[in-house]
Amino acid sequence: MLFSQFNSNNKNRQVLVDGVNSDKIPHALLFFGPSESGKLAHALAYIQYIFCLDKKNNDSCGVCSNCLKNGLLMHPDVHYIFPVASSKNNQKPVSANYLELWKKNVLKSGDLNLETWTEIISKDKKNLVIYVQEIYELEKKINLKSYQGEYKVFLIWNANKLNTQASNKLLKSLEEPPTKTLFILISESKEELITTVLSRLISIKFQPNNNSEKTISESKHMLFAETFVEWVRLCFNANKKNKINDLVDLVEKIASMNRTKQLDFLNYVTENFRKSFLYNYSLKNQLYLDIPHENFSVERFSCFVHRKNIFLIFNKIEESMYYITRNANSKLLFLDLSLTLSKLIYKENKVENDLT
Ligand SMILES: [Zn+2]
Repeated sequence: MLFSQFNSNNKNRQVLVDGVNSDKIPHALLFFGPSESGKLAHALAYIQYIFCLDKKNNDSCGVCSNCLKNGLLMHPDVHYIFPVASSKNNQKPVSANYLELWKKNVLKSGDLNLETWTEIISKDKKNLVIYVQEIYELEKKINLKSYQGEYKVFLIWNANKLNTQASNKLLKSLEEPPTKTLFILISESKEELITTVLSRLISIKFQPNNNSEKTISESKHMLFAETFVEWVRLCFNANKKNKINDLVDLVEKIASMNRTKQLDFLNYVTENFRKSFLYNYSLKNQLYLDIPHENFSVERFSCFVHRKNIFLIFNKIEESMYYITRNANSKLLFLDLSLTLSKLIYKENKVENDLT
């Protein structure tokens, strides 16, 4: 997730980003504040920023290989810990037992609250807990080398649900963390954490969002939605003779935007492809992909975005964004991108159809 994808708190964002830019990333942070204050979204954007290979304007690029992994919560050096429910069959549950379910629900909304999560994993709405066995698992991971030789991050969502045993055990890791290890604890209140744990954390307070900024980003998306739908439609039809002229006309229109807007547009395109992939792949009827256009069907579009082409599509968009920043000829660039996308979405889908 990018900071620009949600209504981020400018002050907190600046503090976090400055730390990364000056190579002063703390060992342990606490994000606290009421629900709806975007704590988890900030944490995910922050993590993505730390790992991003091509940081720009105090935000991650959204398209490098690390951003793609973090955008799908699949980065191997980022570990997620959250409260779970014990059951007859599983007396000692850990987050790993529910990881895919948790990720799906976070990706669906970009945030998640404890109440919703409780309803999802416990029919009788049991009190969820982070048990001590979770910290044993954490200790195993902490001592392994990170996959990329860089940071290892442990995100503890709803850390107020750590039971006493787990809190005390976690304390040891917080006291002597290996280098390049970052803990991010998230909690609605500070008071629910034990004081010894709290004393090890740098706290950052979050407030509920104000909606005015959201409206600005929404209206920007409204503006891009029409161009996006038209563009995708023409990409699908690029092999038809009478449509190529329409595609060239649209490409000229896109290329006439200034370069910052072209990059914004491609970020918007990337996000739509990412969401469509998730929709098609694992989140049917759940994912919120809002493209306000009467001729656009998420269901139909998402069938064309799948395992075989998603990374090729991302790579091509990333390459195009790079050349835009290098002042490449925008008309040629967008035409080339359109034709490549056309091949990727059309050909790969044909293969899929043949298999079914
Ligand atoms: Zn990146």
